[in-house]
Amino acid sequence: MFASTPLYDIAIAGGGAAGTLLAIQLLRAARAPLRIAVLEPRAQLGRGGAHATRHAEHLLNVPAGGMSAFNDAPGDFVDWLLAGQVEATREALAARFVPRRAFADYLTQRLQEARDASTGVMVHLQTRATGIERIANGLRLELEDGTTLSATTLVLATGNAPRPLPARGASALPAAQRIEAWDTVAVDSIAADAQVCVIGSGLSMVDTAMALLTAGHRGTLHVLSRHGLMPLPHVEGQPPSYALDVDAFAALPLRGRMHALRAHAARAVAAGTPWQSVIDALRPHVQRLWTTLSCVDQRRFLRHVVRLWDVHRHRIAPAVHARLQQALTSGQLQRHRARLDSAIAGERCVQLQGHGPHGRTLSLEAACVVNATGVELRVQAMRNPLLSELTGRGLARPGPHGIGLDTDGDGRVLEADGVAQADLFALGSLRMGSLWESLAIPELRGQAEAIAKALLGAR
Ligand SMILES: Cc1cc2nc3c(=O)[nH]c(=O)nc-3n(C[C@H](O)[C@H](O)[C@H](O)COP(=O)(O)OP(=O)(O)OC[C@H]3O[C@@H](n4cnc5c(N)ncnc54)[C@H](O)[C@@H]3O)c2cc1C
Repeated sequence: MFASTPLYDIAIAGGGAAGTLLAIQLLRAARAPLRIAVLEPRAQLGRGGAHATRHAEHLLNVPAGGMSAFNDAPGDFVDWLLAGQVEATREALAARFVPRRAFADYLTQRLQEARDASTGVMVHLQTRATGIERIANGLRLELEDGTTLSATTLVLATGNAPRPLPARGASALPAAQRIEAWDTVAVDSIAADAQVCVIGSGLSMVDTAMALLTAGHRGTLHVLSRHGLMPLPHVEGQPPSYALDVDAFAALPLRGRMHALRAHAARAVAAGTPWQSVIDALRPHVQRLWTTLSCVDQRRFLRHVVRLWDVHRHRIAPAVHARLQQALTSGQLQRHRARLDSAIAGERCVQLQGHGPHGRTLSLEAACVVNATGVELRVQAMRNPLLSELTGRGLARPGPHGIGLDTDGDGRVLEADGVAQADLFALGSLRMGSLWESLAIPELRGQAEAIAKALLGAR
């Protein structure tokens, strides 16, 4: 057994927005020497999958006013923007959908400021944690670069894992014919007149379509998804608020909630209030609404409602929505309601076969296929060696419905036998099975703050 003092007090696996928010909170709250290691294979912290894009047309899906890194300073991101854009008023900036890269730059600056002012020290190790074992006085992590690292506490902030393309033949496609939507360099390399088939019609499809359309793409963009639903728009400016009795709503089973939600939306629209205001009234209460659903109703939600909920909840900037509608109207963007069965490499193109409702078959030829199927929620399918080892060794167990990891209310990871571990935490999308709403910045900043308090309070 390893018995010397662990090298780091806290290791954070993952340096996307979640891991970076936690590092900032820890550095700010440290009152004594504190050694923090952030393990992140990307060259820069604070970017992760969502905010790594340098494309100006990849906008935040939330107005700037909702994107502060700090619960106790809700205007902080707007203040940061104002410092660089003096021509806009505070109100105008708070309502604006700014490029996601600006948010990454903001996090980078706040992290640097926290490092400069802290009694703690943070290092970024540009590698991935691949294995873990418990040692006498902490945890030892195996790293992808062949080294090991010991830490008293580990926080998992491993974020969003892409889903593999779900079709026969897809894994055998050459790299030029199979492109990951999150690989913006590969998306940029698509020839302007190429016929492209995008699998998935959510936010990743929006990114791909916007990157191509903005670059002057001339070829047709086919979008395939089982449900055919695309994200809906936010309203322009600040929508009016809508009063909703959340207690009454939470007391209903899923079917009753869906009925009530439709009735509220219809009532709001009839009174001149956009339906978006009704969703926004529920948004802060989603964790409660999830945890008060029965297990059977949670399963029903995942099977029948989630796509519909997602397109209403995860909305896009009005300007982005308008550009996609324009492409739909012109026929350059073609939406197909179909499940992809196979993607077979031809000599110069990919042959795609799918089937839609009522057994309708679909055959398409495209120069390349873009995997925009989104985020894998099931921990067993994430293909992340660290998470596989954690569950394999019984240091963690899958969360409800196999989604992420099981955690207690403070984010402590539960062992296979259900006992919460004082030295192993998770934040962000790994907690979606327990909380459902655990992906966006408001939840990430709250969880980061709570975990920092729990860790530093215990020292
Ligand atoms: C296209 C898109 C747009 C979005 N837009 C918004 C928005 O406008 N507003 C909003 O609030 N939310 C948005 N989101 C939600 C988004 O998920 C969060 O805002 C946030 O960026 C998630 O950060 P994260 O750190 O949890 O995950 P990620 O961004 O996925 O980062 C996780 C990091 O962990 C690293 N990692 C994984 N495994 C390991 C390991 N074993 N060892 C070391 N490192 C590891 C990865 O390299 C990765 O960089 C968007 C999401 C997507 C996909």
